[in-house]
Amino acid sequence: MMKVLVFNAGGTQVLHTVDLMHAIRMLNRQVARVLDAVPGRSFGPHPLPRSVELVTYIYARWVYEATGRTAPSVENVLRRDRYRCGYCGRVASTRDHVKPVSHGGKTTWLNLVAACLECNGRKRDRTPKQAGMRLDIVPFIPTPADLWPKARVRR
Ligand SMILES: [Zn+2]
Repeated sequence: MMKVLVFNAGGTQVLHTVDLMHAIRMLNRQVARVLDAVPGRSFGPHPLPRSVELVTYIYARWVYEATGRTAPSVENVLRRDRYRCGYCGRVASTRDHVKPVSHGGKTTWLNLVAACLECNGRKRDRTPKQAGMRLDIVPFIPTPADLWPKARVRR
């Protein structure tokens, strides 16, 4: 049986997979909508789903208990810091180790901030102090709600 990915509302957070019939029931009950479909294929009135998205955001505590904490990936650090550079406040596209890895800095939430390409390049493998740069934000460990705020949910 074909498996279908189930995303939380907002379409960025994978919750789990269900089999196709389960996904179709979700579509019929209108608790989910098709996010990605197999081109040219349908199942009853629906495009044949590869992935579906919940209509309503759920706070999936069990997802995090199963997988541990959310990882401080580049995307997640950018999300936590709302895509703003921690040094200059402009749009960020990279993740900076506040204390560089070469100085023993760890890849953890508390040692990572979003940074624009320019600031990241200027700082290099120096601490903010060594680089003469001021960090304007205090890194924190985000909750899932910090990363996927309800405000982002499309209805
Ligand atoms: Zn910057």
